[in-house]
Amino acid sequence: MRPCILINREHLAHNVKTILKLCEGYGIAITAVTKVFGADTEIARILVDNGVSMLGDSRVENLKNLRNINAEKWLIRPPMMSELNEMVRYADVSLQTEIDSICKTADIAERQGRCHKVILMADLGDIREGFIKEEELLRAAVAAAKMKSINLYGIGVNLTCFSFVQYDTEKLEQLCRLKRRVEEETGHKLSVVSGGNSAAVDLMMKGGMPASVNNLRLGESVLFGKERAHYQFLPDMYNDVFSLECEIVELKEKPSLPWGTIGVDSYGKRPVFTDRGPRRMKAVCALGKQDFDPDTTIPYDEDIIILGASSDHLMLDITDSKKQYRLGDYVRLKLGYFSCMRAFTSKYVKKKII
Ligand SMILES: *Cc1c(COP(=O)(O)O)cnc(C)c1O
Repeated sequence: MRPCILINREHLAHNVKTILKLCEGYGIAITAVTKVFGADTEIARILVDNGVSMLGDSRVENLKNLRNINAEKWLIRPPMMSELNEMVRYADVSLQTEIDSICKTADIAERQGRCHKVILMADLGDIREGFIKEEELLRAAVAAAKMKSINLYGIGVNLTCFSFVQYDTEKLEQLCRLKRRVEEETGHKLSVVSGGNSAAVDLMMKGGMPASVNNLRLGESVLFGKERAHYQFLPDMYNDVFSLECEIVELKEKPSLPWGTIGVDSYGKRPVFTDRGPRRMKAVCALGKQDFDPDTTIPYDEDIIILGASSDHLMLDITDSKKQYRLGDYVRLKLGYFSCMRAFTSKYVKKKII
């Protein structure tokens, strides 16, 4: 059988309720980010059933999956000019960074008879998306505030995604100051100050979040119970919502070191092998880098060592395991962020909510 992602409904529901309550204590609402699980409808429904009222995804195609779910839908990546029609149809809110894109969004929203909410993104150092120059952001705000089919909804920032610049009180004070400047220039109150992603949770818990910040866009912390500034597990949260089962297709005693002349891998790097002794029990599983990411995956059985993977084979050292594995048995892996994302993207992997 094909490898299968198992989604633990109870653990997910618990995480959602716990993080909502935690953030509520700091006056912060959550936009739950669905891109890790490809905005699967059933999983999104678990989020909404447990109190989430806003869902965010970076892809319009994913938001389309959520069309029958009762929540405010956010597109959290600047939209492609070529997808604005669909974007306005499936997203209630978008994070925007280009005046031209906002203008075209307004035209399309008007044609569709809709009002579209816009959050302007400021780049405060991560050099990913967002306005760097204050004048440019203010100009976009003033323009957007005049457009009939646009609701200038808020301001936001994203850090710790490309340059891994950290959130701190000073940067978020800067965002709050920009909010006040936008309000002065447009004479329009902004509803949302979206202060970041799971890397901002630690700052919030330490009481460093300025009072005006009232929203966070959270994926990893909700789904994996992990904040991203220090990669700590959050108290009273589960980190095993997503796991993956794969089948053993070969089981043999093999040495830990390869033999022959060793070349380079597909990235041009020379592989390194650890000599763990001459007689190690190896399992090959029907799973590969096409379906998961070995670096962000941990076996449930703590005595198993992941040796590595190629596109379609996963090699495990099961010598120390207390369990007697047999050919055809399933091995269960705990999925981290990127591994989970890849598993959900792979058409070779099934999904099951348990
Ligand atoms: C992916 C993403 C998030 C969620 O990030 P997590 O670290 O998973 O919480 C938030 N905002 C934007 C703009 C994103 O692209």
